[in-house]
Formats: sequence, structure tokens, C-alpha cells
Amino acid sequence: MLKSFIEVDPDSHFPIQNLPYGAYENEDGEIHLCSSIGDYIIDLFVLDEEGLFDGPELNNQYVFQDSTLNYFMSLGKPAWTEARNTLQSLLSADNAVLRDDALLRERIFKKRADLELVMPVQIGDYTDFYSSEQHARNVGSMFRDPENALLPNWKHLPVGYHGRSSSIVLSGTELHRPKGQTIPDNSDQPEYGATKKLDFELEVGFLTGSGNTLGNSISVDEAENYIFGLVLLNDWSARDLQKWEYQPLGPFLAKSWATSISPWIVTIEALEPFRTKCPEQNPKPLDYLHQKNRSTFDIQLDVFLTTEKQHSPHKICSSNFRHLYWTMAQQLAHQTVAGCNVQPGDLYASGTISGPEKDSYGSMLELAWKGTQPLTLPSGEKRSFIEDGDEVIMTGYAQANGFRVGFGEVTGKILPAKK
Ligand code: MN
Repeated sequence: MLKSFIEVDPDSHFPIQNLPYGAYENEDGEIHLCSSIGDYIIDLFVLDEEGLFDGPELNNQYVFQDSTLNYFMSLGKPAWTEARNTLQSLLSADNAVLRDDALLRERIFKKRADLELVMPVQIGDYTDFYSSEQHARNVGSMFRDPENALLPNWKHLPVGYHGRSSSIVLSGTELHRPKGQTIPDNSDQPEYGATKKLDFELEVGFLTGSGNTLGNSISVDEAENYIFGLVLLNDWSARDLQKWEYQPLGPFLAKSWATSISPWIVTIEALEPFRTKCPEQNPKPLDYLHQKNRSTFDIQLDVFLTTEKQHSPHKICSSNFRHLYWTMAQQLAHQTVAGCNVQPGDLYASGTISGPEKDSYGSMLELAWKGTQPLTLPSGEKRSFIEDGDEVIMTGYAQANGFRVGFGEVTGKILPAKK
């Protein structure tokens, strides 16, 4: 097993096998791209400045001297592989370049706990899919008809909508309860005010690198090569706004007020050891969505809640990325099949990831079943939706024998609505 000269706890999310990408603000207020190992961040700007990314793809490209990953992402898979191999080699226990250079080590490794992480990508476009069958069934049975919970198109295409990228925020950003229009029960007159049904959605997003040109598409069997990496994502939702506004064109203000993502982007290459089978697809999708070797990743996903009384995070959901019916490759093939171009730094989210068991549902709407079965916290409080002062914490990791590859957390606290 590959080992680093940096000591890493077996349950750390950041062993040498991971090496995710992020960005931080250094002591001079500059944004530097970084990676992470154990309790440290790795300053990629300094490594690049030292000329240590000297392979054929990255030599003289200065990709890590930018303040975002977009240019690096645009270079495509050969460059991504080379950067990862270079980093793994520099960090490995038998490489003396950093291991034996105390001055350089001091400039490169910084305690993660002391730092502020910032958004590492300029996100262009954002799509949110709806690819968990259990979630679609739960929502369909609650709001429409348990007998016909899935709409007729659901098993033929990965349903999605275009979201807002301007309101995507990094983990830790505090958010005010949004306001908008809702329709009270048993009334035909809408009201304006703060949402009473604030919810989270447990999702995983992927970011693309270089994409297709306008008018061309990405084939399903090549689509994964366009995916740079994955993030944890909380698609905050105001259910009462959503219920009133969503027909006929889909979610709008109920979702566009905020979306939180984890600060670390975990690469497809780091997730390779965790490939696993996807749910079978029946009926077989149309040819352009038919993927020869369909697989997904085994990523454990957990959601915790803290409140003003519940100080220690209480687990309310335990799900897994592998439950998704549509793969990322199928989503990307569908996204581009009509000729829409994807670009470096675009974000594509999975949709709420609900598993088959009640405690694996990825939203409060489902966990408390539309408010009919409120959750009881150890503090004694009850929750059907998210209240002011509550913090939602999502974590995700893939477990191997002896190490885990993780995303860290995506957290967000809800503050009272603005006056
Ligand atoms: Mn969503």
C-alpha cells in the first residue's frame, strides 16, 4: 500500500490515495490552490513555483499559480493524471525531495484547522438532476399518486433542471431563511413571507473539465473522461415555495437562493478503487444512454443535525452514492445530446440520494414524511423541517482496507429570515 512520509490516521479522509483539490487564503490574503493530506493542506502554488510539476503535460503551464482550478481542468485527463502522479510521488515515503527539505516542507504543508478554505472553481453553469429512484418515488407518492409515483419519462431519461451558479456557496457559509410566495392550505390566495418548510437535499455533484463544442455531444461511453471530480452538495430547498411555483416549468426560487458544496473536489482517479455495480435499468434506455460498462462508486453519505439545544451532531440519515439509478456518464450524455456545450467548471448534481430504508432518505421532507412523522432528537426537540439556528452537516467517504477516501464535510447553518 502506498505510504506517505506524512503520518495519516486510518480514518482520515485525506490519505495519499485521495489528494483532492481545493483553495485557501494564505497569510498574505492571497488565494492559493491546494490539496490535502492528513491534517495538512499542501500548497500547490508553492510546489508549482518550485518547478516540481515538470512532466510533459504540466511543465511551463503554471496551472497551480492561478487562483482557480478552471485552466487546469480545461487541460483534460492526461494533465489530471500527471498532476496526481507527480503529487503522489512527491509525498511518498521513499521520495526525498520534500521529505528531507525542512524549509520547503514548512512553505508547503500548513495545518488545515488554522486555515480558511475558499471556492476553488469558477462555476459556470449548474444543472441539478433527479436520479435517485427512491427519492422520485417518495416525492411522487407524497404529492401525486403512490400507484403512479414515477412520471412516464423517469426511467427513460435523467430528469433535471437548470439551476443557478451565482448562489453556490462553500461549506460553512451561514444562510438566512429565504422568503417568497406560498399558498396556505385550503386557500386560493398566495401569501408572502419566510419559508416554513426549509429543507436540505443530500446530493453529490460532479465538475467537468474540457467539454464538447456547441452543436456536438458527448457519448455515454466517453463521458467519464470529461469528469474532473466530485463534491458533496446540499441543495437547500424551500418546500412551500416549491409546491406553489413548480408547475409547469420546474423548481425556481425554492432552490435558487443557495446551494452549498464541500471545499474539496475528489477526483475520479481517487475513487477508482471503489467502483461498484449500479441498480439494473429496466426498461433498457435508448442507445445514446446505453452504457457498455455501467458502474458507480461506493460512497457512504451521512447527514447530521445540530440545533440550539442539540449540540453534538445527531445523525439523521445514512445513504450511499451507489443507489443512483442514472450514472454521471448517462447524465452528461443526456445533458449534451441536443448539442448543449459543457465547459470547464460546470457543476452537475445528482439529485437527492435516498436509499431503500427509511433512515436512508436524503431530505427532511422524506425523513419526516411531509411532516406527518417528525424526527425526535436526543435533546427532546422535534423536527419536520429545518429551524432557525439549526446546522446541517453532510459527510461522505469511500472505505478501503486500511484507508478511506473522503470529502470532508459540507455544512450550513440557517439564520432567521432578514427583516
Ligand atoms: Mn436537488
